Amino acid sequence: MTISPFVDPQTRRSSVAVDVGGVLVGGGAPVVVQSMTNTDTADVDATVAQVAALHRAGSEIVRITVDRDESAAAVPKIRDRLERLGLDIPLIGDFHYIGHTLLADHPACAEALAKYRINPGNVGFKDKKDRQFIEIIEMAIRYSKPVRIGVNWGSLDQVLLTRLMDENAANGSPLSARDITREAIIQSALHSAALAEETGLARNRIILSAKVSQVQDLIAVYSELARRSDHALHLGLTEAGMGSKGIVASAAAMGIILQAGIGDTIRVSLTPEPGGDRSREVIVAQELLQVMGFRQFVPVVAACPGCGRTTSTVFQQLARTIEDDLRRNMPLWRDKYPGVEGLQVAVMGCIVNGPGESKHADIGISLPGTGESPAAPVFIDGKKAGTLRGPKIAEDFQVMVADYIEKRFGKGE
Ligand code: SF4
Repeated sequence: MTISPFVDPQTRRSSVAVDVGGVLVGGGAPVVVQSMTNTDTADVDATVAQVAALHRAGSEIVRITVDRDESAAAVPKIRDRLERLGLDIPLIGDFHYIGHTLLADHPACAEALAKYRINPGNVGFKDKKDRQFIEIIEMAIRYSKPVRIGVNWGSLDQVLLTRLMDENAANGSPLSARDITREAIIQSALHSAALAEETGLARNRIILSAKVSQVQDLIAVYSELARRSDHALHLGLTEAGMGSKGIVASAAAMGIILQAGIGDTIRVSLTPEPGGDRSREVIVAQELLQVMGFRQFVPVVAACPGCGRTTSTVFQQLARTIEDDLRRNMPLWRDKYPGVEGLQVAVMGCIVNGPGESKHADIGISLPGTGESPAAPVFIDGKKAGTLRGPKIAEDFQVMVADYIEKRFGKGE
């Protein structure tokens, strides 16, 4: 039998590593998960609480808006409060239009931030554009900070776009407006990176992003940007949207780009449901990297989808309980049980396929399906370890999972 080679992720694109407050982005480092607050940064209490929540959920870098004097003045206070809570999380300042002034007027803010994010389309108009961009870069040099040059489709440099459109129109076989817009995004990022380097900022202090809102545009733009530069790249779909649409679009776009070996840090920009949890975007980003096999953050709980063989919802509830339990405990367990993030748990709905699946997991249970005897075989490391019966099957299984974790990971094996 001849077996053709299977398709695996492409080798990671080689990029220049950037140190963001102790978190390495690019240069072969694991793809970093980041997120952004939606609090008013001037509200120190609310911002500290949300940064802490995002960090606890697994965000390795958190970006905050710095849009006015009050926000800039709050940044060092936020940094201090986080440190007093023992949270060593790099904070990124997101600046638009007056970033150069805010950084100059608030040196403690410039010092407290681990990175400055600049959008070349929102840095100033006409002759101010390059001047104000350079002023921010000079601040980054003075304070030894990296920057992200973050181009955004919605605020693209209109002068550059118009020039490219005019040149294209004069071309004998013009490209589509969509292609020219994609090209303008890439050129805006590369031109700004070149200007930053000419100003004296080292390449290992520059991360690039080029965010758009359509999946195919994102894939096209990043594929080309990756081909033309070796800067570390931040991936993200802008305005991904709410609920499942935002998750699916982000996963589809970034999954394809990551599979091609491109991307050093990701953010999933989900529009939260009213009153929804901002940490959701962190969990989705982690899950994307984990299901693709690039990183492990939390133990995986495999659950069957259910079918006509089980009309009970017990297995769904148990899978949810176990998953919530594992995620809630991870901040503590990361230190206490080294390697626990690699744990695989299976919760299956009946004994037709359940035992087979359970054997593939580290610990798995097959709950009784409709008409099956009320017994739930449990498998540990591929072998049957016992059978649970009675009304407390779920609780008993939770105890078994906890015991397994203690025995296997408790001594750091
Ligand atoms: S494990 Fe059983 S209940 Fe779950 S999907 Fe398979 S056959 Fe259906």
